[in-house]
Amino acid sequence: MLIGALYRATVLWLLLAGVGTAQPVMSVTLLGSGTPAPTPDRFGNSTLVEAHGQRLLFDFGRGASIRLWQLNIPLGTITAHFLTHFHSDHTAGLPDLWLTGWLPPAYGQRKTPFVLFGPPGTEALAKGLSGAFAADIAIRAVDEHDPPEGIAFDAHDVAPGLVWNRDGVRVFAFANDHGVNVKPSYGYTIEYAGHRVVLSGDTRYSPVVAAQALGADLFLHSVTIIPAALLASTPGYRAVYQHLASPTDAAHAFADARPKLAAFYHVGLNGDATTADLIAAVRTVYDGPLTVGDDLMRFEIGDSVIVKPFDQPRR
Ligand SMILES: [Zn+2]
Ligand SMILES: [Zn+2]
Repeated sequence: MLIGALYRATVLWLLLAGVGTAQPVMSVTLLGSGTPAPTPDRFGNSTLVEAHGQRLLFDFGRGASIRLWQLNIPLGTITAHFLTHFHSDHTAGLPDLWLTGWLPPAYGQRKTPFVLFGPPGTEALAKGLSGAFAADIAIRAVDEHDPPEGIAFDAHDVAPGLVWNRDGVRVFAFANDHGVNVKPSYGYTIEYAGHRVVLSGDTRYSPVVAAQALGADLFLHSVTIIPAALLASTPGYRAVYQHLASPTDAAHAFADARPKLAAFYHVGLNGDATTADLIAAVRTVYDGPLTVGDDLMRFEIGDSVIVKPFDQPRR
């Protein structure tokens, strides 16, 4: 009887220990959840997805390099980079990431080309950056003997469809709807081991985006909220809703897709709008699981999706 009780206690302990130490199949970390606004609270848009030892980085807003190093991730260790579109709040951090990631100290260390995928125009962007920073590259090559391969771009213009497929980790690009004047513009789906994460990219409501995220583990959507008074008094704001999702637009996408977890990852709070206003607007349409992302918030994806706000011990 005592042995039976001990056995049951041991089994229970093992089960609890297993739950406590289960490794996520994939993880997603928001490096920057902000907009073009140069605020220290939310850096420019950038999202890190980790699966099967691969580090995949989506967009490179202002400060992406700083956030990576806050996580003790050397900039040169990103496996592949993916761009959604050419708005500067998604590219402003690219030269920093590319150039600083090439440097020899612990925070850099890239010795192989910078792998970059994006819509048509990505190869031209890489070529332009290489020209713009040619003097720095030439000086460091002679002065520091940094390896030339580490500052080369391996850039690819890609069409919608499968763009990355390595050891079971697959990335698909899809065209979203960022308004008639902002094309091309992509979102991305990342799949691994039966789990799926979808990043909307910058988009207004799009049934294509919602269909990509149908039943996904994690559906990250961009959003902007403009208080009614601001919308009425400042005509320029009306145009914003022509190319970005309002809270109810995003809520319709969430309601269509019914993901395990819906989250905002590119958050535009205009005027005096707050995240509480954002949530209240969403709740008029969508009643499922919802999180408003913050910088360095981490999502761990396995049998369930766990949200971990940033804490110092992870540094
Ligand atoms: Zn945009
Ligand atoms: Zn944007």
